Formats: sequence, C-alpha cells, structure tokens
Amino acid sequence: MKRRLFLYTTLIIFTGLLCFFAASVYMTHNNNLRIAKDTVMETARIFAGFYGSEADISAFVNAGYDTRVTVISRDGSVLADNRPLDFDAMTSHLNRPEIRAALDGTPAAFVRYSETLGLNLIYYAIKADSGDDFVIIRTAIPVAKIDAYLIQSLPLLIFLFFIIVLLCFVLSRGMIRKTVKPFESIERKLRMLSDGEYISESEPLAVSYYEIDKITKGIDEIAHILQGSFKSLRDEKNKVGYIVNNISDGIFAVDESKNITMINSAALNIFEAKPDITERSMSYLFYDKVLTSAVNDCVDHEQSAFIEFSFNGRIYLVTVKRLPETKLTMVVLSDVTDSRASEKRREEFFANASHELKTPLTAIKGFNELTAINNKDGNIKKYIESITRETDRMLSLIGDMLKLSELENAKIARPVSVSLANVVNEVCETLSAAINEKSLSLEIAGDGAVEAEPEHVYELVKNLVENAVRYNNQNGKISVAIESGKKNTWLFIFDDGIGISPEEQTRIFERFYRVEKSRSQRGGGTGLGLSIVKHICALYGWKLSLKSKLGMGTEITVLFE
Ligand code: ADP
Repeated sequence: MKRRLFLYTTLIIFTGLLCFFAASVYMTHNNNLRIAKDTVMETARIFAGFYGSEADISAFVNAGYDTRVTVISRDGSVLADNRPLDFDAMTSHLNRPEIRAALDGTPAAFVRYSETLGLNLIYYAIKADSGDDFVIIRTAIPVAKIDAYLIQSLPLLIFLFFIIVLLCFVLSRGMIRKTVKPFESIERKLRMLSDGEYISESEPLAVSYYEIDKITKGIDEIAHILQGSFKSLRDEKNKVGYIVNNISDGIFAVDESKNITMINSAALNIFEAKPDITERSMSYLFYDKVLTSAVNDCVDHEQSAFIEFSFNGRIYLVTVKRLPETKLTMVVLSDVTDSRASEKRREEFFANASHELKTPLTAIKGFNELTAINNKDGNIKKYIESITRETDRMLSLIGDMLKLSELENAKIARPVSVSLANVVNEVCETLSAAINEKSLSLEIAGDGAVEAEPEHVYELVKNLVENAVRYNNQNGKISVAIESGKKNTWLFIFDDGIGISPEEQTRIFERFYRVEKSRSQRGGGTGLGLSIVKHICALYGWKLSLKSKLGMGTEITVLFE
C-alpha cells in the first residue's frame, strides 16, 4: 500500500509541476511577444514622426539598432534599411501583410518568416508623410530575440523544477509513512484477532486521526466481543468434551471420507484404540461388516441405522445417524450386555413359572371335573363351577404368558402365504357363540395374502376380533375389511363398541394393562392380548395403528409391509 501510495503521489506531483512549468513557459513567451509587438509598433510610430522632419532618417536607419527599420515607397520598393542589404535585388514589398495593413489604414503587428534575413520576425508598418506623398516605415524584431532571456533561464528553471520535485517527493514520503502507520497498527490488530491472540487494550497510535481513531476503537470493541465469544466457545467446547469423554456410551463421528473426526474415551476403550486414531480411516478402528455397511449407508445415503453389534464378548446397541446441518455421521454404542442377560433371566423365569403353574393347574382342572361327575349336591356343584371358571381363566392367562415369552425369542422359521380372509372366517367361527350371545352383526370383506407363519397370523386376528366382540355393546356391529395393494396389504377391524379414551390409547399395548379390569375379566380377558399382537407385528415389521373414540367404537389397522 505504502509503495503504491508513494508512486501515485510522486506521479501526481510530477505531472502537476510539469503542467505548471509548461504553462509558465508558454505564458512568459506570450508576454514577451506582446511586449515585443508593442516595442516594434512604438518604434515604427517614432520613426514615422521623424520622417520628413529636419532630422535625417538615414541617421536612424544607419544607427545599427537591434530593431530593423525599413523605408518603403508607395510602389513597394525599399528606399532604405538599417541592414546592409541589396535593395535593388529586393522584390516589391506591397504583398507583405504588414505593408498591406498599413496601406489599408489598419496597421497591425505580424509574425512571419523573412525570406531576406532567413528568420522569424515581428513586423509592423505605418504610413509616414513625405511632403507631397507618403512612405511606409516598417520596423521588425527577430522572434528569437524575445525568447532569448527565457531560453537563457531555462536550465535554471529545469534545475529548480527537479529540486521542487525532489522536495515534494521527500515530504510526501514522510507524510505517507505517517498516514499509513495507523493502518499498519489496525492490520496488526486484525491479524492478532484472526490468529486468536489476545488484544489487551487499545495500543496508542503514533499519529492520531479522528476517523482512524474511530475505526481503531470499533476494532477494539469487536475484538473484545469476539474474545468473549471465543472464550465462552472454548469453555463450552471444553465442557462438551468433558461430558462426551465421561459418557459411558462409546461415541465417534466420521466425515464424508469415512475418516474419524472425533472419538470419546469410552469408544477408545471399546475398540482398544489410541487417541491418535482421529483423522484416520474408520477401518483402523473396526472390521465388522454390518457396522461398516451401516456407517457407509449413513454417510452415502443419509440412512440412519439401529443395529446390534458384538465385540470382544460384549453386546452393543449401535445408533448410526447423520448429524443435521453437518457432514458428520455419528455412531453411538450402548453396552447392553448386562441388561440383555437380566432380560434373558427374566424371560426364562417367566417361561419356567408359566410352565410350572400350568401342570398343577391342569391337574386341579382334571380333579375338579372328576369331582363334578361324582358329586350331585347343588351347593358343591356351584363351588365346582366356580373352580372350573377360575382354573380356565388361569390356564388362559398362563397360555398367553407362554405365547408372549415364545414371541420374545421367536424367529420367523417357516413363513408361508396365508389368506387373511380364511383366518378371519376361522376366528369368527370360533367366536360365534360370543357373537351370537351379544347379537352382533358381522361383516367381512376383501382378501389378501401375507407371508408369515399361520399360527402368528391366527393369534393376531384372534386377539383383535376377540376384543371387538368383548368390548362391544349388545346388538353392536363388527366389520373386518382386507385390502390388498401392489406392495402392501391392510387389515381393518372396526367395532362400534365402548371405545377407548385418548389417555388410555397409549397404554393398552402394555402387558396386563386393562382399562376396565372387571369387564375384561368377565369377558375372559387377560390383559395380554394386545401385547401379543404388538409382538407379532414387531417380529414381522408390520405397522399397527389404532383409532378410537370413547362411546363410539374402535378401529385397528394392521399394515402388512
Ligand atoms: P384384554 O385381555 O383385557 O382384552 P388386551 O391387551 O387385549 O387385554 O386389551 C387391553 C385393554 O384394551 C382391554 O382391557 C380393553 O380395555 C382395551 N381394548 C382393547 N381392544 C378394545 C376395543 N376394541 N374396544 C374397547 N377397548 C378395547
């Protein structure tokens, strides 16, 4: 900047002075010319005054003045000249502009080249009385003479010109240095700011300018605000870093090139890696195919994943997710080894207890039936009936509990194409006694096939239709519709029964949750039906949805994808 400013200033000074110099020379020359013209005219008038008087004109003519004086007759021939010239050889002067102007009575000065003398001259001519006639007195000065002084003083003028240029050059250099100094200080501050260095206080400027002072103050203020922000950002980063490193879940992030950009201590422990793994490819961290393809899918197609991953004898639930508005993919590994073990123990206990209870209950039921055959007493018969009802209920409860625990560990072993209409008809036939008891109208429409194990489809339909019957009113309506699309099949089960309030709707899929315990029990409900339905849907990836209004009815939809 300094160098450029300096160059521009020098150029401006030089051009300015040069213009001034040229204008001065031109004006001096013009002035000299005007003075010379006046002199030539005045001399001519003096000579004209003397002409024909007692004084002899030849005395003037021969005096050898710088001014050339010529006496010309009216026919244009030269009568006398103070230059030693051959008059006879001279042509008629009548065509000379100054002579013509004198003859016309409008004498004027003319600058022109003299063929006779071979010079540029300033000419002036005037008529002079010569008694009976007149002559023309002409005076002339060489043009070179008028600029003689100017040309003489030109070297001195040029010298002065360069001295002034040099002086301006030195002064402007000093001025530019002073002017630029505050900008250098501003530049230094901005650099410190961008390097994240701390600017303690406003550094006083060598030369103070109001406008620059304002800019410097502004920069100081911005610097302080930024420093504050940087500090809180640093603190925040440290805090986040501390939290992330103390989280028990393993966390790491990869960029678009699948290089690790961040990894916390837990993840380093899981993979037995060192902190210098950052900036390196994730393949240095693990080789697992499933996890690698989940991360690749998320990086390349923004597909989130939730997978299970086993490593070094531990089980991890892994969430792979693209962080919004960044190009980072985040991987979180939660160790579920212990909770899986206790869950397994709980499920085993659940299954074993159900099994253990089933055997004595079946025996009680058998003995009860035998007692009923051998006992005709009315009172005892009542007790026996109540024992039969309760053992049936307990057996159905244990049956549901066993189904649920089976479903928890179930795998889809032999899926076949199952007609939903067939299953619905079969279920409705089994439930016909209950349907008739409530005088319910039943409508079944459409058909569609699903790929699944038949007993799972049966269990799902049975539980849903059973609920539509159980929680319906006398003379109510049930309609079952099956729709089959290109890719998907839908099952809609509608009843205009008691309905479910919005608060209960989120809870009815929980185990043993019943809105109205007595009504559920009376109808043979165990509180496990919808849990079984939910587990079957989860096993196949089907979507279950519920629409219900208290007092109006319920519609359950299963989307078989
Ligand atoms: P239950 O064996 O008691 O029927 P479910 O798990 O099948 O157990 O249902 C849970 C609860 O949801 C039921 O107790 C009942 O209150 C409510 N429910 C389920 N289906 C319906 C329905 N179609 N209409 C009204 N309430 C229902």
